[in-house]
Amino acid sequence: MHQTIRVRFAPSPTGALHIGGVRTALFNYLLAKKHNGTFILRIEDTDQNRFVPGAEDYIIEALAWCGLHFDEGPMQGGPYGPYRQSERKHMYAQFADQLIQKGHAYYAFDTAESLEQKREEWKLKFDHSATYNALTRMEMKNSLTMSEAEVNEALLTESYTVRLKMPASEDVRFTDIIRGEVTFNTSELDDKIILKGDGMPTYHLANVVDDYLMKISHVIRGEEWLSSTAHHVLLYRFLGWEQVMPQFAHLPLILKPDGKGKLSKRDGVKLGMPVFPLSWEDPNPEDSFIGFREAGFDPDALINFLAFLGWNPGTEQEIFSMDELIQAFDLSHVSKSGARFDFDKIKWFNQQYLKNQTGEELAEKVASSIKSAGWNPSENYLAAVCFLLRDRIIVYPDIVRDGVYFFTEDFPKDTDTFKKKWNPEHKDAILGLADLIGKWETNDSTDLEHAVKDYIANSGLGLGQVLPMLRIAIAGTLKGPDLFQTMMLIGLQKCKARIQKLIDESSLLPA
Ligand code: GLU
Repeated sequence: MHQTIRVRFAPSPTGALHIGGVRTALFNYLLAKKHNGTFILRIEDTDQNRFVPGAEDYIIEALAWCGLHFDEGPMQGGPYGPYRQSERKHMYAQFADQLIQKGHAYYAFDTAESLEQKREEWKLKFDHSATYNALTRMEMKNSLTMSEAEVNEALLTESYTVRLKMPASEDVRFTDIIRGEVTFNTSELDDKIILKGDGMPTYHLANVVDDYLMKISHVIRGEEWLSSTAHHVLLYRFLGWEQVMPQFAHLPLILKPDGKGKLSKRDGVKLGMPVFPLSWEDPNPEDSFIGFREAGFDPDALINFLAFLGWNPGTEQEIFSMDELIQAFDLSHVSKSGARFDFDKIKWFNQQYLKNQTGEELAEKVASSIKSAGWNPSENYLAAVCFLLRDRIIVYPDIVRDGVYFFTEDFPKDTDTFKKKWNPEHKDAILGLADLIGKWETNDSTDLEHAVKDYIANSGLGLGQVLPMLRIAIAGTLKGPDLFQTMMLIGLQKCKARIQKLIDESSLLPA
């Protein structure tokens, strides 16, 4: 690619950014970085009715957390600013005027009620979904059906919109990098509103004008915008910009885990998994969601997972750092068909990323949760615990949940299992073992292991009769990392006390 690559992520601040939006941002970012191009954030906030306070900050914070940094945008500025469409309001009307002058757009004065009434009529009259188009526009109140004097009068006294005049029946063709040749016939498309009475452009006009003015080379966005692209291609043509029209790439849908239908924000709640990068608190509790960050995922793992939603490198390699993704990414390896959002897969990715961190790195991530739980381990101790647990955890909070016994004497105990396995006749042997553990001096867990196992063999008991008891006494559960390393870390004196305590309590356990 010799062309200068300039791509934009163009979200509307209408709420939390869905994970599909993060994937779109990621694919734009990867293409830009691969070709030393420019990655731009443009906030598309022309629809004042859908504006949600806090949404823009959320988008910026979420993308920063994911490591997707912009070269130009509302925060960074840049040569083609401003980067918020509401601040560019004055730029759009001239292009709507040009379109009207050339006969490609017209003023429409229809009220909401008359439109509603007409739509009902059209439904009966035409056998397809009723729209404002070449078939119907001459029945409406617009500058095509009114005299010049009437129009001039109405412009001063009535509210109006500007609509794009779609050709009656013409094939609009464009090449999509992912889908190849795409054709829409204009008879399937409506006369879209491009400018509203308040002077604000709608998405279509603002999007095309800004992509042109910002010299965007590639428009990479979700599949839901594919049919709008036909309108956009005509806008480029009518405005005389077709020669510099960006290339289009429409990314495949992200599907529900079972592959049936598009992943929605409600699926997260229904299936108990995040579908947003960060948590979103909404005044309406039904619209509040937990994010991947708060659920304990690592942003690098999330990015790696998202890269595979619709793209694959064409090799067996699955684990990719951001730099490796930049090297390997190519729009020609993006597929057309929908990509299933597999929650087990993101958990698998996260596990791989956590496994590869040092104890110190993990400790840093969980330090504040450990503190909030009321525990105050030293940095070294916390790092050693994290290191011991790291092969067994999926998300960061698992360290807090599974590691309680490393930090406090007040940890939950699986007394049911203990009762099942406990044989009072072994009491003296196990107390003797507790003594030995308390006295043993070593820095080596295998040395401790040999000592314990020898003791058990000499006392005539089986390992299966004693080791589970030890585990429950020391960790409260049969699950966990190597028992001897665990004991070394907790401290052998403490372990002795825990064993004695459980044996004492055993006489109190109900039969
Ligand atoms: N503002 C649109 C959105 O919210 C942008 C679509 C596009 O990238 O053109 O998704």
